[in-house]
Amino acid sequence: MSSLYQHGTLAMLMGKQMQGTASVAELLAHGDTGIGTFEGLDGEGIILDGKVYQALSNGQVVQVTDQDVLLPFVSVHFHEPTEVLPFSEVDFGTLSSKLEKFQLDNIFAAIKFHGKFSHVHTRVVAKQTIPFPSLLDVSKNQPEFHRDDVAGTLVGYYAPEIFNGPTAAGWHVHFLSDDKKFAGHVLDFSATEVDGTLQLFDDFIQHLPIDNAEFRDMSLDLDGLSSGIKASEGRKA
Ligand SMILES: [Zn+2]
Repeated sequence: MSSLYQHGTLAMLMGKQMQGTASVAELLAHGDTGIGTFEGLDGEGIILDGKVYQALSNGQVVQVTDQDVLLPFVSVHFHEPTEVLPFSEVDFGTLSSKLEKFQLDNIFAAIKFHGKFSHVHTRVVAKQTIPFPSLLDVSKNQPEFHRDDVAGTLVGYYAPEIFNGPTAAGWHVHFLSDDKKFAGHVLDFSATEVDGTLQLFDDFIQHLPIDNAEFRDMSLDLDGLSSGIKASEGRKA
């Protein structure tokens, strides 16, 4: 079985900890596939085949080749799928029911779909500056993008409800088009002809930036955490 490696937590972003604390080089040592965000929430990250891409809030996508670029929150794994999915048509609304027989409720899993999408709806967080605001305030104003008939890859994770806080419970997926010109955090998608795989994890590695003074000083409002996560990470299906 395999491991999902996560640096930072969603709760830290809610606690205004958006400083980058893990480098691209460190992350790629733990996986070749994944999703995350950059220092100051500068866009949405997607890692595919060991390459890191950054979707920017102006709609552009760049490949991050500098191994020293820092990220505050990111999940990665080595793509070694445990299941080849038997369907080629899926959308966000039917994803969970199509995967029902794999009983994902209480485990971490990754999906990867590649092929044709009739529609993809994304959002891309805009870069924040110090003093960092709360994630909730950031999420109230972030650009959204739509693309029809686009070829690309959708990658992301399912996290159990009990891990809401360390990460977002449920599905969290990002998209990158084959032409590398369209990417972001997926709010909705509809795939018409895709090859899909599923990977189940029996290890969840939670890495924390223990040398970061701001993180060590952070105090979290736990009561507001789950409603805040819901408001900032919830998808509009
Ligand atoms: Zn995201």
